[in-house]
Amino acid sequence: MSEQEKRTVSANDVVSLEYTLTVDGQVIDSSEGHGPIEYIQGQGQIILGLEKATYGMAVGESKEVVVPPAEAYGEADPNAFVEVPKSEFPPEIPLEVGTPLQLRDNQGQIFDATIAEIKEDSVVLNFNHPLAGKTLTFQVKVVGIRSATPEELEHGHVHHH
Ligand code: ZN
Repeated sequence: MSEQEKRTVSANDVVSLEYTLTVDGQVIDSSEGHGPIEYIQGQGQIILGLEKATYGMAVGESKEVVVPPAEAYGEADPNAFVEVPKSEFPPEIPLEVGTPLQLRDNQGQIFDATIAEIKEDSVVLNFNHPLAGKTLTFQVKVVGIRSATPEELEHGHVHHH
């Protein structure tokens, strides 16, 4: 057995992970196509619940990880819904529930929102993260593990050589 085969995920490892993310029965993201993610274990670089579940996994090991909202994007904040008069809406934006929008405030900061509800004279915007309140189901496979370099640990990100 080679060193790489015996290796299991622990803190400060650079982990390569293949994943498929399913929410409400629909696949919404996958490493298929753009390749596995690489991150440093134990630094909060991936969803908390997923990071917890990958400790101790070996190279080649797969598992399904179900992450509740509290360990993913949090619960939806009821105060993050804002009602806007339809008359203030640019005509090019389709008035359909689920339409994603970007809004800019007076300071130029950009906020993401989605149309949550359409009323007779107004539109309700949801400023929560689209995955807030959702349970995330990940199918993951560890495809690589190595120790992070001191430089990577200092920078807090993976270096590609
Ligand atoms: Zn760097």
